[in-house]
Amino acid sequence: MNPKIYLSSPHMGGTEQDFVSKAFETNWIAPLGPNVTEFETRIENYLGNTNYVAALSSGTSAIHLALILLGVSQGDEVLCQTFTFSASANPIVYQGATPVFIDSELETWNMCPIHLETAIKDRIAKGKKPKAIVAVHLYGMPCKIEAITAIAQKYEIPIVEDSAEALGSSYKGQKCGTFGTLGILSFNGNKIITTSGGGALVSNSLQVKEKAIFLATQARDEAPHYQHSQIGYNYRLSNICAGIGCGQMEVLDTHVSLRREMHQLYSDLFATTEGVTVFKEPNNDYVSNHWLTCITVDSDKTGYTSEEVRLALAEDNIESRPLWKPMHLQPIFTEAPYYGNTVAETLFNIGLCLPSGSNLSDTEKQRIMKSLNPFV
Ligand SMILES: *Cc1c(COP(=O)(O)O)cnc(C)c1O
Repeated sequence: MNPKIYLSSPHMGGTEQDFVSKAFETNWIAPLGPNVTEFETRIENYLGNTNYVAALSSGTSAIHLALILLGVSQGDEVLCQTFTFSASANPIVYQGATPVFIDSELETWNMCPIHLETAIKDRIAKGKKPKAIVAVHLYGMPCKIEAITAIAQKYEIPIVEDSAEALGSSYKGQKCGTFGTLGILSFNGNKIITTSGGGALVSNSLQVKEKAIFLATQARDEAPHYQHSQIGYNYRLSNICAGIGCGQMEVLDTHVSLRREMHQLYSDLFATTEGVTVFKEPNNDYVSNHWLTCITVDSDKTGYTSEEVRLALAEDNIESRPLWKPMHLQPIFTEAPYYGNTVAETLFNIGLCLPSGSNLSDTEKQRIMKSLNPFV
């Protein structure tokens, strides 16, 4: 059996271990220290403008803190893209709030602004104005952020921009993660850069960053003893993990280029295959990091389904994966209100994510191309 080819695996740049060794030498084996501060500075410099970054233990904890900072609490409603990973929606429930799911549009596969506005109007008519909007840049593709922001401003509802999959993507030259009232990033093992596990909260205010760090470190009041007047969390990033992140920031742009090259490879492969569409940017305003390259398969035209492609790849020990199953179809969220049609559901039924790592060798790429050849 050939060695396994993963969908997206960690890819170290080289200097990560230097930062980790430094942490050992100086005994900063803690959820704070020089690497944490340096990692935050590197992300702030990368995102540009006046962005403030708090390094956290995961993208999920970043979304949770974002909702807390926006005052989401028991009984509130939060609008959330249905076509996403469950981590976008779970923290809504941690707060005792109810997710209200919104369908996608076909150009970016992200939150449909039309369904969003319909939902806002209807929830207000039913007596409750939603407390926040969780918008996602899925697979690295920027969402229709201008239209979504315009609606959010019209109804004065803050946006949590879930940029977990989209570090390195941009819309009209502005980096993803910097559009929302608050933005979040993830550095999980399979993301475009990794700290093994980690995340970050992005805001445009130093006070918000400081408040996030305060909440992430058990909300200790200023006193020599341990005094608390608010519920706190243990959500800060470890100085060891942050060291990996410092090294990873040096190769982020290279990783984006390599993922975009993988996307080009698949685009060329399927260029003349009727019925297979490689998901790409709608126009030049959008730049995706192409974290994962996705295809949709119209089986009426191809004579085969996306599931058959997945099984053929698995046969050669190559991992591929169906697109995210929409949240409103998940057993945990059957009670949640939903606004939309079947765009996300259809994408789930006909789509597949292909191996997209920035560290795939030429031999591995050849194996993938060979396995896909019967479908071209
Ligand atoms: C990975 C991911 C998250 C959560 O990040 P973790 O660091 O794994 O907690 C949230 N939203 C989306 C869309 C993701 O892909």
